[in-house]
Amino acid sequence: MELDERLQQIRDRIRAACEAAERDPAEVMLLPVSKNHTADAVRELTYHGCRVFGENRVQEAKLKISACPGNLEWHLIGHLQSNKCRDAVRFFSMIHSVDRMSIAEEINKHAHNAAKDMPVLLEVNVAGEASKHGFAPGEVLEHLNAINDLPRLEIHGLMTLAPWSPEPENVRGVFQRLREIKEDCEQILGAPLPHLSMGMSGDFEVAIAEGATIIRVGTAIFGPRPRPQKEK
Ligand SMILES: *Cc1c(COP(=O)(O)O)cnc(C)c1O
Repeated sequence: MELDERLQQIRDRIRAACEAAERDPAEVMLLPVSKNHTADAVRELTYHGCRVFGENRVQEAKLKISACPGNLEWHLIGHLQSNKCRDAVRFFSMIHSVDRMSIAEEINKHAHNAAKDMPVLLEVNVAGEASKHGFAPGEVLEHLNAINDLPRLEIHGLMTLAPWSPEPENVRGVFQRLREIKEDCEQILGAPLPHLSMGMSGDFEVAIAEGATIIRVGTAIFGPRPRPQKEK
């Protein structure tokens, strides 16, 4: 199947999932995840109305972004090292993976230097998996005010990666929990948080049913990921 057909299929499935959940499809943003795929594949999707893409590594994204049309936006969805913060602030319009206090401070510092306000999501390790990054649910509440006090960070919501499961229904509880944690955060901040970034190729329909506003879909659009490669 071609890229545009897979994209159309995903859009149809998003619409159906929204209908089933009685949600407006305009509330759910599809973020195609182009990691390990080429600038050519990104360009092809731009012909079908995609403008914002997700990347999980700063270094790879930097090369790809320079090879792509300049009117696109990029979201960082992968773990960020402090020595990559300067580039992350420069190249991305949103960072989904704020997973510890020290990185929030570092992003704030570089955003300040760049005179830029940086939209971010706080990554929560809902299932407490040792292999995953993210604040523990209690930690995110504990650090929330301190993060909110960083003047150049704009907290737009929460992000999570559900544990892998062959059966998406098994991870529904993780998405529910993230939504509840967002409600707790809203209580603490006294303000609404617009975004829940949750759901990937295998589980986005369940995530939509539980309130996802950004779904991060790689494989189901681009096909299986080739091994990491250098851009030509
Ligand atoms: C790769 C990746 C995705 C997309 O995963 P697929 O299963 O290919 O859809 C989503 N979120 C993050 C953080 C990723 O690294």
